[in-house]
Amino acid sequence: MHKTLITLSLVSALAACQSSEQQVNNKSVTTSSTQEMITEGIKPNLSAIEITQLCEQVLNKTDQDFAALEQQTVKATLASVVGSFDSITDGMSPIRHVWHIRAVHPDADIRDAATQCSQKASEFYTKVGLSRGYYDQLSAIDTAELSEPEQYMLKRSLENFKRAGVDRSEEVREKITALQKEITEIGNEFSKNIREDVRFVMASPEQLVGLPEDYLANHPENEQGLIKITTDYPDIQPVMTYGENDKLRHELRIASRDRGYPVNEKVLKKLITKRHELAQLLNFNSHAALSMSAKMINNPDNANAFLSRVGGALKAPVEKELAVLLKRLQKIDPNATQVQVWQASYLMNLIRQEDYAVDSKEVRQYFQYDKVRAGIFGLTQDLFGVQIRPWKTETWHEDVESYEILENGKLLGRFYMDNHPRDNKYKHAAHWTLRTGIKDKQIPMSGLAQNFPKGLMEHSQVETFLHEFGHLIHNMFSGNQKWYGISGMTMERDFVEAPSQMLEEWIWDYDTLKTFASNEKGETIPKSLVEKMNRARDFGQATGTATQIFYANLALNYYNQSPDKVDLNETMLRLQKQYAPYPYVEGTHLYTNFGHLNGYSSDYYTYQWSLAIATDLFSRFEQEGIRNKAVAKEYREKILGAAGSKPAADFVADFLNRKFTPDAYINKLKAL
Ligand SMILES: [Zn+2]
Repeated sequence: MHKTLITLSLVSALAACQSSEQQVNNKSVTTSSTQEMITEGIKPNLSAIEITQLCEQVLNKTDQDFAALEQQTVKATLASVVGSFDSITDGMSPIRHVWHIRAVHPDADIRDAATQCSQKASEFYTKVGLSRGYYDQLSAIDTAELSEPEQYMLKRSLENFKRAGVDRSEEVREKITALQKEITEIGNEFSKNIREDVRFVMASPEQLVGLPEDYLANHPENEQGLIKITTDYPDIQPVMTYGENDKLRHELRIASRDRGYPVNEKVLKKLITKRHELAQLLNFNSHAALSMSAKMINNPDNANAFLSRVGGALKAPVEKELAVLLKRLQKIDPNATQVQVWQASYLMNLIRQEDYAVDSKEVRQYFQYDKVRAGIFGLTQDLFGVQIRPWKTETWHEDVESYEILENGKLLGRFYMDNHPRDNKYKHAAHWTLRTGIKDKQIPMSGLAQNFPKGLMEHSQVETFLHEFGHLIHNMFSGNQKWYGISGMTMERDFVEAPSQMLEEWIWDYDTLKTFASNEKGETIPKSLVEKMNRARDFGQATGTATQIFYANLALNYYNQSPDKVDLNETMLRLQKQYAPYPYVEGTHLYTNFGHLNGYSSDYYTYQWSLAIATDLFSRFEQEGIRNKAVAKEYREKILGAAGSKPAADFVADFLNRKFTPDAYINKLKAL
């Protein structure tokens, strides 16, 4: 199901943004206040040595400037304190792309140099987050004259400082710094172990019966007459959907879900233990309690309540779906009593063809990469009244595309898209903020990394593309505040996915699809096919969402209690039984390759939470027209443009003219 894929992408996107979002509450830059708008790129092509040197140079200056700021004795005002810090952030711009480059650059030396630099930069933010000198100055700012967004920014900053233990003794603060550094390193190790552990299964040609021709053409036999199928998405996904051979799907499922094992078992345990230690040091019961205190959801109890409400609404729809799958499976294997997870996509595709008459192979002929990209650009231009055109600049690989986005001739932002798979590249789909937009000072810049074929795409991949592009649009339209602390993607983390999730709706809209979806002969996708796709859309949602609830509960349970009470494997087995729609597969270890246990840690509930918000937000477009430009304008201004200038609950209410509730989402699930 696309949900899993997208969730992975979402989470990765957030994980990717995380390092930068640590800055949110403090943030800022160095020195020279140039009057000109900063619009230029960030030299994506530095050598490993140049990255290391630049990193050292930038961070040395950053350290000096920050030390000076900590000790300054001028009267504390927003300009003298936050303004100075924003200047330091400006100075870090040249290395802001290292989080992105470490995930996408083809050269291992450069990835390593970027990784090291990103770790050092994270250390700086950790240090800032623990600076008593800076905190004292922030606390001394007289708020009487400040605007509401500025007051909100300051309040959030001070809360974050307290949450980080800044008011604690020197000794405790040193422990916190050391722990945070350790956590970052362990987390990086966990992610690296997954990223670099690509496994494969050698298949015979007979085992690939059912796969599309272009897939077979791209997977030639070796000298022994066997075909290598790796665990990378573009390789494995078509087999899971179209491959008739049950054994091959089973083997691939094991290969894929055993990545990172056994090495990551210890790494994860260490990560959970250190995070718990840190939470306790900060007087929180658990890492989950600490992490959620800065979110819309607020605490683990609320997360639990929300997840169990959604889980409860799903019970009957899941049973219904499983019964349909089992009935179809029994036509293949009359003795089957249970559907296995490696059979799910395959069976769903068969049922879609037979009962809903939707054949993925028929659908994909209308989604050629270049046309899809043009379609997504077209939708953005039409809905929001902007223009997108190529941006000539150097990149790190010939596959990388670069563009700029304008409004009435005025440059609004720039972005890279690295959209095709290659060795050692980030395996999922994600958005990175390469630069945060600042009103009248700096345009936003984004990097998108995805893994799509250059030829025909699955409809679910098109949906992923639009989803990730939604993050990019959000970064472009939210870079209009005066301060780093409230500009760009600075809103609460558990809101961040909602705009992208809502945007996915457009890829199910015929009037949108007809503008770009056409086959080789130039025939537009038939309206009847889109109608059929929509009827088939709901099928699979119940089991897909139940899987998400399983993942969310797994993450919450790993991080919501003392680590000595957590047996990784036992907890996984127990929760799998309780929440997942399919039984455990012998030989797999989800927790060694579920990358979001690092990035999202306890907060995997976020995906479902923001989906509930997205469903509520979309209700206005549903009522007033999905291509209604007036609603889109209001949405851009009130939701995207608000950035982090007020609580998400407030700007959502501004747009809806009432408070957010998950009722719309719950009702939708119950009706499945
Ligand atoms: Zn996302």
